[in-house]
Amino acid sequence: MAIYCSNCGKAMGDDARFCSACGAQITGVAPAPMPFAQTRMYRPRAGRMVAGVCQGLAVTYHWDVVWVRVLTVLITIFSSGAGLIAYVIFWIVMPEEPYALPPTATTSYPASGGN
Ligand SMILES: [Zn+2]
Repeated sequence: MAIYCSNCGKAMGDDARFCSACGAQITGVAPAPMPFAQTRMYRPRAGRMVAGVCQGLAVTYHWDVVWVRVLTVLITIFSSGAGLIAYVIFWIVMPEEPYALPPTATTSYPASGGN
């Protein structure tokens, strides 16, 4: 998903802070990012294979999620299951990603008969 400069309309990457064309600060669709989103580890709801632990580690440390999963499997195999135990511990202690729906997204939900 791309975001667009509010000043000149140029498309930017999701993590862009400033427009590369005009230098304006990118406010995008999330003007007030959650203060813990950058530093806190969480399990993303999208893209997970089991519980999102590998995905969460990858997002937090900017690793490739594929390598995180491969390493987790290898560690589990070569450590007689310690990797799996670590995975379960992460599963327990890592919170799920909070729902952060943009205001416009709520209008796309169908009305569910009565209230
Ligand atoms: Zn711009």
